[in-house]
Amino acid sequence: MLASLRFAPGPRMSAVRTAVVTGAARGIGAGIAAKFARSGWHVVLADLSPEVVETASAIAAETGAATTGVVSDVSSPDGAAAILAAVTEIGDFRALVNNAGITRDAMIKKMTPEAFTATNRVNLGGPIRLNAALAEHLADGGTIVNISSKSSQGNVGQFNYALSKAGLLGYTRALAIELAPRIRVNAISPGFIATEMTDAIPDELRNNILARIPLARPGQPSEIADVALWLCSEASSYVTGQVLGVCGGRTYAP
Ligand code: NAP
Repeated sequence: MLASLRFAPGPRMSAVRTAVVTGAARGIGAGIAAKFARSGWHVVLADLSPEVVETASAIAAETGAATTGVVSDVSSPDGAAAILAAVTEIGDFRALVNNAGITRDAMIKKMTPEAFTATNRVNLGGPIRLNAALAEHLADGGTIVNISSKSSQGNVGQFNYALSKAGLLGYTRALAIELAPRIRVNAISPGFIATEMTDAIPDELRNNILARIPLARPGQPSEIADVALWLCSEASSYVTGQVLGVCGGRTYAP
């Protein structure tokens, strides 16, 4: 399941830095990839879905930046190898955003072993695998951003997802210490963001969640992207091992 396609509508400049964004075919990942591209990064968009090639092409056309679409499963050795091959070829690798994630919701009594294993394999195993494969290839001063979730604090029908996303926070803090001072590692904990993942939530539950957001609206992928870009910039140069809640103020509300 490996394919890589590069789009480079304009001449590349030597100062261009490379960022990898996983789960970038759509939703938050596509928003992050577009934001980095608009800021002049060469973005490697990686996703299980072949749709990632179209997304990479559309972002290149819109922004004038170079992009590379890589069809890859972040939880597999082959997927990690395909992403590594892309960044090795492009060079000046400076940022890795581990965004790919899945939900397999069920109440505890009905949670299947498959649903439990799949969420942990992708949401936690994916970043662990990619960071292990890619961190040493990041340039000095490079950054890793892991996308966790407000659900890491617990959520009904999501113990598997909550566990994977809470594990990602402990992992982020440990990795930040291990990779310092060369690489900074942080996590973003999004609240309710308007994507296909949240479109799947039944209306009643959705309205219930929206009523508990102090800023009284869902977040947009671009609002997660702004924080990811900041965490990968010099403006956050003394920030590592941190978790930023981007949830419209819902951090301590249920
Ligand atoms: P989304 O719309 O479902 O998009 C996720 C993308 O990741 C899809 O393109 C999916 O491909 C891809 N993907 C899934 N498994 C993969 C794998 N093994 N390897 C590579 N790519 C894979 O999700 P989203 O709402 O944008 O969420 C992005 C991240 O933010 C996730 O980690 C999610 O847990 C987190 N998050 C989201 C929200 C929210 O409100 N949306 C809130 C908190 C945290 P397929 O279509 O082929 O599955």
